[in-house]
Amino acid sequence: MRLSVIASLCLFVTLNQTNMMVAQQAEAPDPLATMVGRLELERYKATIKGLTQFGDRRQGTDRNRAAVDWIEAQLKSYGCTNTERIIFTYTTPERPANGAGRGGGRGGQQSEIGPGGARRRGVRGTDSVNNDPMKQPDEKLRALNSQPSVDGERQEVYCTKIGTTHPEEMYIVAGHMDGIGWGEAANDDGSGTALVMELARVFSSPDVQTDRSIRFALWNNEETGLSGARAYADQRKDLQGKESPAGSGKYPEPKWLGMIQHDMMMFDHGAPHKDGTMSKVQRPEADVNVEYQLTSKFADQAMLLAHKFQLANEKYATDYPASIGPHMTNTDSTPFMDLVPSLSFRENERGAQIGNGWDPHHHQPTDVYATFSDDDFRLGLNAAQTTLGAIGQLTGAKLTTTMTTGN
Ligand SMILES: [Zn+2]
Repeated sequence: MRLSVIASLCLFVTLNQTNMMVAQQAEAPDPLATMVGRLELERYKATIKGLTQFGDRRQGTDRNRAAVDWIEAQLKSYGCTNTERIIFTYTTPERPANGAGRGGGRGGQQSEIGPGGARRRGVRGTDSVNNDPMKQPDEKLRALNSQPSVDGERQEVYCTKIGTTHPEEMYIVAGHMDGIGWGEAANDDGSGTALVMELARVFSSPDVQTDRSIRFALWNNEETGLSGARAYADQRKDLQGKESPAGSGKYPEPKWLGMIQHDMMMFDHGAPHKDGTMSKVQRPEADVNVEYQLTSKFADQAMLLAHKFQLANEKYATDYPASIGPHMTNTDSTPFMDLVPSLSFRENERGAQIGNGWDPHHHQPTDVYATFSDDDFRLGLNAAQTTLGAIGQLTGAKLTTTMTTGN
């Protein structure tokens, strides 16, 4: 009796091991894990550093135009060679007589309901825009940022990974390349721009194939009220899914499946302390904040999409988790949110946290590369890992086996 029990136990264990070995052999390595592994902290940092050579990249200046040219050259060098530009005109609106404008100011700071409908709690720091050049102590940077903005023509660049089986459908992955505040716009939004550029690099590798298309867009004029993203949406929304020329298999504007914006990716040091100071280090609980807008036409679909990104974060992000919130606001996904499910990725929730002063460098002279530590840069890298994993899943990304050498 006892012997037969042992014998059948042995048989069970052996069968089980065999099953596991078969399962392991059948399971091919996850191509997305390989692709995510091609993102590196040092490369991400170097791309941000490259953007900061153009100072704050304020719209309507030579340094902004030089940055657009540089971004385009980088995209081409990554193999994302089909770059195109959106052209639009920007005219500064007349200031309202009461001096109120975007960004709230003192009156807005009184309300418990923050931007995007978020409920603000706890100690509230200030969140304002610096317009004083003398607050920039670095004289070289102050000089670099000194040319004022002039109204007129604006350009912004994008490139597209074309899907092999569904070139007529795409996800838009975006950040904004302009900045303000007399710093280097390293975090706002060099960190999001570099993320999008790094994803363009990985997806443009010759051994990567996707079923559906992905457009990598670097908006201009976000800081003037989302003008560049709005220009794109206005100019191109009616072109979606149309083959042109007919019968060519080419879709200049594939149908939008989702729009994912990345804006301020690095700084999550927690809430301001009671004495107004902030933690000098990234908090251990730092997270990537994925927001959709509850009041948008596609709120339910965007919420569902957000959870796909959260699950991709669990699978592919090395250090920091992702959290979801319903109050997406003040970024370039807004002009898209009633046209397609739209998300924004950030270091903190825009309304409840950044709106409460959680990022003291926001639009300030201190938003320079040297302000941030590797723990800060790594939060941006984790957002890149998250978006790469999710977009890879959603577009059916795979590695072709034609490349047998190299890595
Ligand atoms: Zn921004």
